[in-house]
Amino acid sequence: MDETIRQIIAFIRQIFRTQGFIPLHEPRFIGREKECVLQTIESTFVSSVGSLVEKFEQKIAQYTQSPYAIATVNGTSALHLALKVAGVGYDDEVITQALTFVATANAIRYLGAHPIFLDVLPETMSLSPDCVRDFLVKHAEVKSINGKKVCYNKLTGRRISACVPVHTLGHPARIDELLQICQEFGIPLVEDAAESLGTFYKGKHTGTWGLLGVVSFNGNKIITTGNGGVILTADEHLAMQARHLSTQAKKSHPWEYVHDQIGYNYRLTNIQAALGLAQIENIDFFVQRKRWLASKYREFFDGIEDIEFFSEPLESRSNYWLNAILVNDLNFREKFLKLTNTQGVMTRPLWRPLHMLRMYKGYSFKNLKITEQLYERVVCLPSSVILPKE
Ligand SMILES: *Cc1c(COP(=O)(O)O)cnc(C)c1O
Repeated sequence: MDETIRQIIAFIRQIFRTQGFIPLHEPRFIGREKECVLQTIESTFVSSVGSLVEKFEQKIAQYTQSPYAIATVNGTSALHLALKVAGVGYDDEVITQALTFVATANAIRYLGAHPIFLDVLPETMSLSPDCVRDFLVKHAEVKSINGKKVCYNKLTGRRISACVPVHTLGHPARIDELLQICQEFGIPLVEDAAESLGTFYKGKHTGTWGLLGVVSFNGNKIITTGNGGVILTADEHLAMQARHLSTQAKKSHPWEYVHDQIGYNYRLTNIQAALGLAQIENIDFFVQRKRWLASKYREFFDGIEDIEFFSEPLESRSNYWLNAILVNDLNFREKFLKLTNTQGVMTRPLWRPLHMLRMYKGYSFKNLKITEQLYERVVCLPSSVILPKE
């Protein structure tokens, strides 16, 4: 057991070409980052007024082929706003997965709505279309209100006002099937694509399948603005609403301060957008290098018994944001985490499933067998972009 772990550590050190500390995921600033940020400082437009935010939004829209992109201060606020404009309200219910970063459920709770945690598929680590269908067929009732489908949970009487699958670790969910089910039941689909910029499913970028999608530019994501996020949508009205709410719901006026709603201070700043503009120029290179790293890991783990490398699902082109392996038991996982981390090779388990956290106990609908199995078996490996040798 220890011998296998030592072998893995040696491989990771060899591929990252260092005997020093290897983080899980660090950003790479290999383009015009310094120049762009410096220019912003010299212009004095460092805050949320400035032309670079819109420019950055255009670049993101272009890259993802999303008609609209609204940049926000982080992915969590993007999720919050996306859910709000999707129509999620107080005491509603929102279907999602427990196998995700806590922000997914927090954004739901910010609106006073309740998450319903359903299980994931082992092949995608993302929301299982079959579980969603089973749940809705058994417990949902669709009413027609003003000619629009509205979905209710017959058990609780609450409205089910959104479904939020996560493209876990950058791998696409079965988003076409989920979309189909949601449409049948009149439930808006909001994709948590925080981790999946650069990931395509059936040739279409993740986060552009549903009514809205959300991407994060946190420091540990594939590109970063320090802290940042974006809402993607093809719906002009929702895009305008989201942008309005992100800028304190201030009405445009030549000099007066007039606000027509309770808005949020969620707009990305110009200085962050400057960083993002330099980063997005390298997205193709980053994805290419991350896919190269994944192929090296896959090759290596093919020769290791009892460990399985997690590969992209069928019909996907994943950004391999975080590489992951599945080990066969909890004891091995603990030992692996301990040895790698004490030796300066940063590895992490998956997030503790949310239904196991104090504030989200009782929100899982049924047992979440696959979620719990994955949590016990998955270890995430160092995944930063490795620059090619000079
Ligand atoms: C990173 C992340 C978020 C939140 O994004 P922030 O920019 O950190 O606020 C939400 N959901 C998932 C799945 C994430 O990985």
